[in-house]
Amino acid sequence: MSRGLTRAGVPALICVSAVLMGLASAGDDPVVPRRFTFKEPHMGTEFTLVLYTPDSDLASRASRAAFDRIHAIDVALTDYDPSSELMRLCAKAGGPPVPVGADLFTVLNRAKELHDRSGGAFDPSIAPVVRLWRRARREKKLPDPDLLAKALALVGGDAIKLDRDRQTVELTRPGMKLDLGGIAKGYASGEAIAALKREGVHSALVAGSGDIVASDPPPGRSGWTIGIAPLELEPQADGTLGRTITLSNAAVSTSGDAEQFVEIDGVRYSHVIDPKTGLGLTDRRSVTVVALEGALADALDTTACVLGVEKGLALVESYPGASALFVRITPQGPVVTESKGWSRHASPSKRP
Ligand code: ADP
Ligand code: MG
Repeated sequence: MSRGLTRAGVPALICVSAVLMGLASAGDDPVVPRRFTFKEPHMGTEFTLVLYTPDSDLASRASRAAFDRIHAIDVALTDYDPSSELMRLCAKAGGPPVPVGADLFTVLNRAKELHDRSGGAFDPSIAPVVRLWRRARREKKLPDPDLLAKALALVGGDAIKLDRDRQTVELTRPGMKLDLGGIAKGYASGEAIAALKREGVHSALVAGSGDIVASDPPPGRSGWTIGIAPLELEPQADGTLGRTITLSNAAVSTSGDAEQFVEIDGVRYSHVIDPKTGLGLTDRRSVTVVALEGALADALDTTACVLGVEKGLALVESYPGASALFVRITPQGPVVTESKGWSRHASPSKRP
């Protein structure tokens, strides 16, 4: 059984308000949209679909199409299965350009763009280093410095060459490997929303753990109310989260070390790695990004984590419609920085 692309925690949760729940019980009226929720495990996490339609057959059919789309993306992009399209591409590193499918090309194209625009803070060729840190998490032992140096020598997004016309990828460094864990779940959530639309469902939300994409708002609402749990605001005793945003036709993604980290000799290493050093980030930070596309929100949150507040928020703001909330835990307590556009999404009634 494939373990899926990522083994994510749940840095952000969906909070559905009481008003939405009320609409859900609209009964069997054939024209009143009802709320349907579906859950399935994919990509090493749980994907949740919430959708509104008056037609329960359509809800089932559309959700099946959405989950099938997520599954197909996972099969192509996972780095846990040596026979995936991604891994077959990696096996040809150092060789001539390889024709690839649309999903792999699209995701690599976005990943490469983020690499170039971030000065290499986002790097899909970080895979050899990620593997060492996965082992470090299992064994609670720092990676061997020699192995880390060798792994780091294979990293370099400049060695990924894409040909848009031919839809080919050339990995120019023999032995290099790719890891799309920082972008693929957001891409899959976005593609699931597209699959729902193709089936005729236009008011929906897809959440692959912390990677969420929404289409039109629920009936009678201005947007989807989404709870985000940045580092400084732990979930409340009643299960609600400290801060909510309202969103439609957009994506939101959270990255941080809240769930995936390893603590060695009192130092906490995140699963997000600085490609310059090969080390997991050690100062505690969490970034929530809103963007127009799932893949972009997902990649931007990881990138901003690596870049830090100033450069990270500047990069986010360079994308139309994108904004971010950056939380750092300092000895003096949490420091929260919002990018310029963030207040657009903040819900009017923030919980304590
Ligand atoms: P999550 O998986 O919790 O959604 P992220 O979106 O931040 O979190 O992705 C983290 C994953 O991205 C890591 O598990 C690893 O696979 C990959 N990754 C880690 N560091 C980088 C980096 N600097 N650039 C690109 N991908 C990275
Ligand atoms: Mg991410």
